[in-house]
Amino acid sequence: MTAAQIIDGKAFAAGLRERIKTAVPAFVEQANRAPGLAVVLVGDDPASQVYVVSKHKATIAAGMESFEHRLPADTSQADIMALVEQLNADESVDGILVQLPLPDGLDEKAVVMAIDPDKDVDGLHVINAGRLANGEEALTPCTPLGSLMLLKDTLGDLTGLNAVVVGRSILVGKPMAQLLLSENCTVTMAHSRTRDLPEVVRRADIVVAAVGRAEMVKGDWLKDGAVVIDVGINRLAPEPGKQKGRLVGDVATAEALDHVRAITPVPGGVGPMTIAVLLRNTLVAASLRAGYAKPKGL
Ligand code: NDP
Repeated sequence: MTAAQIIDGKAFAAGLRERIKTAVPAFVEQANRAPGLAVVLVGDDPASQVYVVSKHKATIAAGMESFEHRLPADTSQADIMALVEQLNADESVDGILVQLPLPDGLDEKAVVMAIDPDKDVDGLHVINAGRLANGEEALTPCTPLGSLMLLKDTLGDLTGLNAVVVGRSILVGKPMAQLLLSENCTVTMAHSRTRDLPEVVRRADIVVAAVGRAEMVKGDWLKDGAVVIDVGINRLAPEPGKQKGRLVGDVATAEALDHVRAITPVPGGVGPMTIAVLLRNTLVAASLRAGYAKPKGL
């Protein structure tokens, strides 16, 4: 077999961000304002703080307006709901993202359901999940949409291919399966109760692993020539003398390389796509809310 392709998500995401930046001025020209993304961070979870800073920088770099709302960890449910209502009503806000997880004691589902579905750039509202399932225009969760972009860039037309999605979360697995179905794949969803997972995965032309278990999918589970999207981000225990452990995906990449046609690395595969697609969703939400055509090529 020829050498496996390492799918460069970092480069694809940089290209997508450039295309978004190029498309923003047309919106500004028409609407007389920039598209706006509001990010709400409750509490001081260090990982969430890093994500929020990256999102803010990327939003500004794309020529959009970034509104940050940082609330203390002891904020009440009523205060978060009131902020979401305020952002729903604010015409300069096109996208609302509440950074999850919320601190213990807060009802995440109620907060997400309070977001105006047309501003739900994380695609987590049940209305957007329903629109996606019905094949209607929907704001779609960023990680699976970014994964689909990488697949189409690698394979072109996906029609008729067997796709196996391992993991069935609302954030990744379920919308991923819907997106693959809308591209005419034959989709199998696998999860923790699936019988003989290796055999199920072996049938796949496309494997999307979104489990959260370090290197669970082994090389010999993969059909020769399969294309693999590794969504998992798992930190291993630190090696002796090191402070931090290595980041690995849900797929045993070194073994997989002997079998696959192409695979996303961890890090540098799906990860960089998530923020780029968030910017894309914000521009799409802004355009649709204003009654303009959806920007092309995004
Ligand atoms: P969840 O924990 O919500 O879902 C995990 C899924 O994996 C569940 O459906 C579960 O099945 C399934 N699963 C667990 N164990 C097994 C097993 N042994 N065999 C088969 N399936 C199993 O995780 P997420 O979907 O939120 O995230 C998945 C991974 O993706 C994580 O590593 C996360 O860090 C990463 N991630 C990466 C992002 C990025 O930007 N690259 C963004 C979002 C997530 P069941 O339903 O039966 O319990």
